[in-house]
Amino acid sequence: MTRWLLRCAACGRERALEVGFNLLVFGGKIYLYCKSCKANREHLILGCVEPADICADLASGVSKSA
Ligand SMILES: [Zn+2]
Repeated sequence: MTRWLLRCAACGRERALEVGFNLLVFGGKIYLYCKSCKANREHLILGCVEPADICADLASGVSKSA
């Protein structure tokens, strides 16, 4: 699992999301439910937060099965 930092493009609320895959494949944007907007909104993928070693691998394009 990797933790990602996302920001709602509509209201600017930031949230963390833990997933078992590389969010970079979505090209920087993903639709998720925003608690502030109370609707599905476009979220900007700000980056991978932790664990740092896996984030570094993802950023450098190294494919690793999670
Ligand atoms: Zn929002």
